Amino acid sequence: MEKVYLDNAATTPLNEEVIDAMVSVLRDNYGNPSSTHSFGQEAKTLLEEVRRKIAKALRVTPGEIVFTSCGTESNNMIIKSCVNYLGVQRIITSPLEHKCVAETCLEMKKLHGVELVYLRPDNKANLSLEKLEVLLQNSEKKTLVTLMHANNEVGNLLDLQKVAELCKKYDALFHSDTVQTMAHLDLDFSKIPVDFASCSAHKFHGPKGSGFAFVRKASGLKGIITGGPQERSLRAGTENVCGIVGLGKAWELSIDNMSTYSSYIKDIKNYCKSEIEKNFPEAKFNGESATENSLYTVLNILLPFNNPLIGLQLDMQGVAISQGSACSSGAARPSMVLMSILDEEELENCTPLRVSFSHYTTKADIDKFISALKEVSRDYIIEKQNTEHR
Ligand code: PLP
Repeated sequence: MEKVYLDNAATTPLNEEVIDAMVSVLRDNYGNPSSTHSFGQEAKTLLEEVRRKIAKALRVTPGEIVFTSCGTESNNMIIKSCVNYLGVQRIITSPLEHKCVAETCLEMKKLHGVELVYLRPDNKANLSLEKLEVLLQNSEKKTLVTLMHANNEVGNLLDLQKVAELCKKYDALFHSDTVQTMAHLDLDFSKIPVDFASCSAHKFHGPKGSGFAFVRKASGLKGIITGGPQERSLRAGTENVCGIVGLGKAWELSIDNMSTYSSYIKDIKNYCKSEIEKNFPEAKFNGESATENSLYTVLNILLPFNNPLIGLQLDMQGVAISQGSACSSGAARPSMVLMSILDEEELENCTPLRVSFSHYTTKADIDKFISALKEVSRDYIIEKQNTEHR
């Protein structure tokens, strides 16, 4: 059976050129970048080339890019260090955040008594900037705002520029989890005054276990992994040279082809949306995922019947999607994001499905997904036809 992969927001397949670049490093560049001899210096040069490439695209200085093992580590480091070293006593966040942000914020509350304030989304997963401004006005405490750029489940986009400017106005620090948008959207940090951001290579055809944190130089952030001078002491430990080179290659390909890839993927997403509308006219789309205010790689569908096993059933048909949910024994429970935006009835009687695309996704993949979805939804379709003919 030929399989179809529609879970690109979870991770993406490695690009062949990325694999080649990584294999070459594994074979030929085993020097430790901290060593002063030529083997070490060759490895160091490779790291610095990647750092420069990333900094150039984000319009920042290379010293503001800190290589880490992933998006989770970057987000942890930023939030924990803001509390440990920058005097943050209050965090404003939302229930839409990825667990690596949500749980880190909760830990800061538990361990350090940090005040946690949640900005509640509306039923389309939008956050009110007016409410954010009120929260920013109403406290003397040193505040960190941590809000993601694009939601990994429903794709909603936050207006980074506006939020960053609000945070500047009220002297709050601003961190954005940009894991779903880095290398997918053009981010100009010379214009957007965000203090911290995060990136993960495996979201754009790079390797797992390689990412970076953007740390604005003036912020004075310190590392939480100590014991070495690597990454200007912001992240001790011998660098993952092969992973960073893989990140660099994936970054270069994504940045160079951004407009071609994005318009191709938008077309695929629109095709998928119209096929869903044609075949499941009662289906809805969660959050802003079917509108322009959404990341072009994600479509979150709300099917008009309840089937918590649908992910498993589609997998058995060779189609990989995500239900945007925590799974136990194959049956999905709605995630925090969906629980924050869906009403009781929708949670009980409907089934959310997240399909996410890459430039490797084809219309034939979408056709296979739709026919598999019709197959696993046969009972619902038959029942609906019977009701209509009664
Ligand atoms: N933040 C968001 C929005 C994500 O989608 C993910 C991954 O799913 C992460 C953070 C974590 O990234 P990583 O898998 O690199 O730890």
